[in-house]
Amino acid sequence: MSRGVTLTRALESAGFLVLDSRETAAGTEFAVGSAGQTFWDAVTASPEWHANPNDPVDAFTRRAIKEALAGYPEAQITFVFDADAPNFVVLWTQTFARIAQSDLGLMIHPEYGLWMAARAHVVLPRAQEAIVEDDSHKSLINKLQFDPCASCRDKPCLSACPVGAFTAPKTFDFQACADYLLRNPRCFSAGCDARASCPYGQSWQLPPDQAHYHQNRFRKALGSKS
Ligand code: SF4
Ligand code: SF4
Repeated sequence: MSRGVTLTRALESAGFLVLDSRETAAGTEFAVGSAGQTFWDAVTASPEWHANPNDPVDAFTRRAIKEALAGYPEAQITFVFDADAPNFVVLWTQTFARIAQSDLGLMIHPEYGLWMAARAHVVLPRAQEAIVEDDSHKSLINKLQFDPCASCRDKPCLSACPVGAFTAPKTFDFQACADYLLRNPRCFSAGCDARASCPYGQSWQLPPDQAHYHQNRFRKALGSKS
């Protein structure tokens, strides 16, 4: 079994997903994300859930990914919440063939749609002798890029928001969304109507308790006590 496969399994056992990977001359890069109930069950069962109520998701993510990759001391891990992390939308959509920027501006994936989150970018350096002997990465780099929005004729995501927070591709009226959520929290209770209207990843919509958690955090950040 290759090291990439065992690394993927270690991450999956901890509740994460490898959204895509690619081989380069320098090594293997992995887009590590999360989606669905498995991740949420791992977060809410973790010690961080009670010990770090202000930020249990990031605290869990940092500890669990480091533990999962303990057998790969050479792995370079950049967490999406690191202070010096690059913009993952730019990094991943330019790096991975299965991750695109959607017309909502969010990343979109062929299986998980708009319902996945970026957690970490992992690079497993290639052994020196393998760099010399193996050029198999060349064919993988040219994989066809997933680009669903270019052929999505009706673009239901741009008209589903009740306050028109998305009026054109990749423009988001944050204030319109925030104002509406303060008045009508039910809007967000299933995780955003605009996202839910996209045909990709329908079965990966947020579990209700996870949607509720994000809704509460968002509303608290906006200053609502309710
Ligand atoms: S509904 Fe269409 S345009 Fe909107 S994110 Fe999904 S695929 Fe892209
Ligand atoms: S949460 Fe509601 S108001 Fe905000 S963008 Fe989504 S559908 Fe629009």
